[in-house]
Amino acid sequence: MTAQLIDGNALSRQLRADVAQRTAVLKAKGITPGLAVIIVGLDPASHVYVGKKVEACAQAGLHSVLEQYPATLAEAELLARVHALNIDPAIHGILVQLPLPAHIDAHKVIEAIAPSKDVDGFHIASAGALMTGTPGFWSCTPYGCIKLLQSTGINLKGKHAVVIGRSNNVGKPMALMLLQKNATVTVCHSATANLKAHTLQADVIVAAVGRRNTLTADMVKPGAVVIDVGMNRNDAGKLCGDVDFAGVKEVAGWITPVPGGVGPMTVTMLLVNTVEAAECVALESTRVAAK
Ligand code: NAP
Repeated sequence: MTAQLIDGNALSRQLRADVAQRTAVLKAKGITPGLAVIIVGLDPASHVYVGKKVEACAQAGLHSVLEQYPATLAEAELLARVHALNIDPAIHGILVQLPLPAHIDAHKVIEAIAPSKDVDGFHIASAGALMTGTPGFWSCTPYGCIKLLQSTGINLKGKHAVVIGRSNNVGKPMALMLLQKNATVTVCHSATANLKAHTLQADVIVAAVGRRNTLTADMVKPGAVVIDVGMNRNDAGKLCGDVDFAGVKEVAGWITPVPGGVGPMTVTMLLVNTVEAAECVALESTRVAAK
């Protein structure tokens, strides 16, 4: 069996076209969705990610502000910037690129972002909203995985999903989103006794570990849907995921590639969340005007 490819680039193009259209509607009402991205320090990978986010905003017609600070920035100064952006009406979404330098408490900074502008979905209010099934921003990477799964046309209701990884930014929210879509969810991690015993039972597998070849063909039930979140380098220095793509694609029914799967969707869902944040503001001003 050769799996069907779930194309994150193609789905991203579709979703970004929708974002551009929603942005045009908002602009006609005098509101331009705005994203502020803060980066502290010179981490090269972070600068690449941030560049992609800013470029994607421009392509979809969103306003974006990139604030770059040296690694020596004091925590209090960063918090002051976040507070200023919280009350800036031109900004609907705030993203603080992680990791931050060790002297800055990342948790404190994320918690300083107004939940209504937490388009990365990392604030405890957003995590709590996801847990309780109430409205809030879903964190971008697992949200992108949900969109990729939905693009296959497979109904997640009643499916057994196995999530490998339990980080706060990917594994845990992924499990909660799958639960919300009525899947039966198993979460595996580094202390899981027999990973293969779990993955072999799965209709859906999401691998979010950060170690290549974590999922091999002998661990996958024929026809399963496999989403590869991992971003690693192989011996030749080429980008690869957590899944042995060449082997697993012969067993799975659907599979995401790396690159071109989850990666582009993470940036896309950031745009989706930002336009949604601006739509909430537009709705609120309509309500106020009607009073
Ligand atoms: P993380 O915080 O390091 O979490 C990794 C998780 O994998 C942990 O829960 C860990 O378990 C688990 N794990 C480690 N070894 C394992 C094993 N042998 N078997 C089963 N589980 C194991 O990483 P993350 O932030 O979730 O990211 C995971 C991967 O996704 C990384 O490669 C990252 O670069 C990538 N990523 C990609 C995107 C994208 O846009 N494409 C976005 C975010 C992350 P414990 O909790 O027990 O330690």
